[in-house]
Amino acid sequence: MICIPITARSAEDTISEMSLASRYADIIELRIDYIPEMQDAETCIEKSLKSKTKPVIVTNRPEREGGKFNGSEQNRLRLLQKAIDLRADYVDVEFDSVRQITRQNTSKVIISYHNFKETPPNLNKIYNDICQWKPDIVKIVTYANDITDNIRIFELLKTANVPTISFCMGELGHISRILTRKFGGLLTFASLEGDKESAPGQLTASELSKIYHFKNINKETKLYGIIGNPISHSISPIIHNSSFIEKGLNSVYVPMKVLNIGAFIKKIRKIDIQGLSVTIPHKESILPYLDDIDHTAKKIGAVNTIVKQNGRFIGYNTDCMAAVMGLEHGLKKTKDTLNNKKVSIIGAGGAARAIAFGLKEKGCDITIYNRTLERAKKLSNDVKCKFERFEEICELNSDILINSTSIGMFPEVDRAPVPKNVLREGMIVFDVVYNPIETRLLQDAKERGCHTVNGLTMFINQAAEQFRLWTNIDPPVELMKNVAMDMLLN
Ligand code: NAP
Repeated sequence: MICIPITARSAEDTISEMSLASRYADIIELRIDYIPEMQDAETCIEKSLKSKTKPVIVTNRPEREGGKFNGSEQNRLRLLQKAIDLRADYVDVEFDSVRQITRQNTSKVIISYHNFKETPPNLNKIYNDICQWKPDIVKIVTYANDITDNIRIFELLKTANVPTISFCMGELGHISRILTRKFGGLLTFASLEGDKESAPGQLTASELSKIYHFKNINKETKLYGIIGNPISHSISPIIHNSSFIEKGLNSVYVPMKVLNIGAFIKKIRKIDIQGLSVTIPHKESILPYLDDIDHTAKKIGAVNTIVKQNGRFIGYNTDCMAAVMGLEHGLKKTKDTLNNKKVSIIGAGGAARAIAFGLKEKGCDITIYNRTLERAKKLSNDVKCKFERFEEICELNSDILINSTSIGMFPEVDRAPVPKNVLREGMIVFDVVYNPIETRLLQDAKERGCHTVNGLTMFINQAAEQFRLWTNIDPPVELMKNVAMDMLLN
């Protein structure tokens, strides 16, 4: 179930927002602590309960638990008691106030605990203490300082023996809001619009429905995700979730901001997860924590995909074949092959490694140019190819030029890694940057009569191959491309 909190400041606005919210909401939360005047708050409870079309939770959160109510405790509880007298479906009572509330009639009581600083180590004790008061529903909401805090909440939910609402707040808590139903949670809270969140890290109801298909998630839903840092602008969740829906799969894919890769891999093994995409900065550092690594990924020294096979985490690299496929597709126009082509690669990071190893196998003559010379030298040693100082790029003489740095990526869209005069007619120019789709480098290349290959082609190829590895099903490549273009162009 999705519960949308109404944070309006008057009874009239509350009623009109309740009507808007009922499009996505299964339950409405009336946050009367957002209404500044006591009298207005009373009127709001009366009018809202009379005109409701969905079940209502009445909440009057005090400032000490992250709410807005700053009057006396007596007045705060009086409003909650009034909601019970008026037979509100649910009333949210803080654990430290429950003894002061008289429970009667059909109103169900949610006994809640909020912690805006951390996810404390004694979650089970808090749960058991709340249960002593015979709640109809337990609510435990904490703050995630690390992605693994969510996993402790999932474990709590799995063992809960009373209907329970539990998730983590904050950016790092997003996954517990999205996945709560998979682990047995009763509902999640979502805001009506982006600027109407009632707690940190709340997603909008539209995001939950359109990106994560929240109402389809249940205990059987297979779980996938992307790990990296930063991760909030990744377009992978929308691509993979749309693909799962297209293929009729009960699966969901979530973004996970991971700070400490070793600790994360250890804890994530405790939950039922089927696969992961891996992005900056963990593609290389993840290797020691995996159970096995596919031959190509081992050779490259970087993993961008994890597949769980028989309980073991196996690392793969789909960037490598994605880049080669993208270039081969680009070469089709010239009816040529990669064999013996002179290739200049700018950059020596994870993307450059995957591309250099892939092109070496295709018989290319490769030169690496990188800002940090040591890194260029290391990659050229590993691949067995040449390297040059970054400044020498102006002298390059090659058939294919590849930018595998982030130069030109949004928001610095006016930057290009090489001056325009380096680009010659007939050259193939490939930019791994996919946001924007047509980078400054590719615009310059077109003007100089070069053939161009954009980073989106590689991005879709690597995502499609991940999908195949996880599901053994042909990926819906056209849909993936359309969804990505839609995101990047709007
Ligand atoms: P990475 O491992 O962090 O490497 C970054 C590379 O960019 C390094 O060679 C770095 O040089 C260079 N660089 C960064 N800023 C620079 C600057 N201002 N001037 C000169 N060089 C600079 O990252 P990565 O994983 O290789 O990713 C690189 C880019 O590829 C990112 O934009 C990423 O989004 C994109 N990518 C695209 C795809 C796709 O499917 N299209 C797949 C993977 C990555 P130093 O060594 O000197 O720091």
